[in-house]
Amino acid sequence: MPLRIGFDLDGTVADMYSALHVEALKLFGEEVVAKSAYKKAPASPDGAEGELSLEPEDSPGTLAMAELHLTARQQMQLWDHVKKIENFWTTLPELEPGVIARIAKLASERNWEIIFLTTRPSTAGELTQLQSQRWLDAHGFRYPSVFVVQRSRGKIADALQLDAFVDDRPENCLDIAVESKAKVILVWHGHLKDVPAGAKRLGVRPVQTISEALALLEQLDDIRKQPGILRSIKRVLGRDHPDA
Ligand SMILES: [Mg+2]
Repeated sequence: MPLRIGFDLDGTVADMYSALHVEALKLFGEEVVAKSAYKKAPASPDGAEGELSLEPEDSPGTLAMAELHLTARQQMQLWDHVKKIENFWTTLPELEPGVIARIAKLASERNWEIIFLTTRPSTAGELTQLQSQRWLDAHGFRYPSVFVVQRSRGKIADALQLDAFVDDRPENCLDIAVESKAKVILVWHGHLKDVPAGAKRLGVRPVQTISEALALLEQLDDIRKQPGILRSIKRVLGRDHPDA
């Protein structure tokens, strides 16, 4: 049986927040975005990367919505604006350059089935599903399976019999860990010590990069390919592996 793996898109492999940041700047101007950001999160003094360094230092190029520090009203305005952008979902940068091609390569080498799940809202232009597929294809993943879903990811992971899931939101990870048998990997952009305790309790594995997530998936795959007897020996020995 091939390993069947679910991947979230935004905040996991696609850098939605930096695209939103660009649009927020257009919409509200540098002053508003900079000022509101400055209030809560003073830019790191070495923030050489851009005009505005709103990211926490340890965050690999992502901006959580919270870090835009927009009011609820401004966030709604931002989304209204984004929804009018033709094929917005095809325009995002990757969160780690080359990551989609790496997932595609591993999937083809190791015979993995990959399913991308997203709750992206629709925008002007093509269907969100098609926009997302075009984006994945443009970054090196041929024939991607994408599902735009609204309901519980845990139930979906269970119904699709996923072996593993990679997501950047702790609440999604918890839901998947509770509702399905999938091994859950949390892509966490903050300090590892801030990972919610509930996630750790349920065996969710936090990682800080997709590269780490891919390494864990390879481990899981290797373990599954071992004969059952070896697996049980390892379990008895209490080796640390994602199948435990
Ligand atoms: Mg996400």
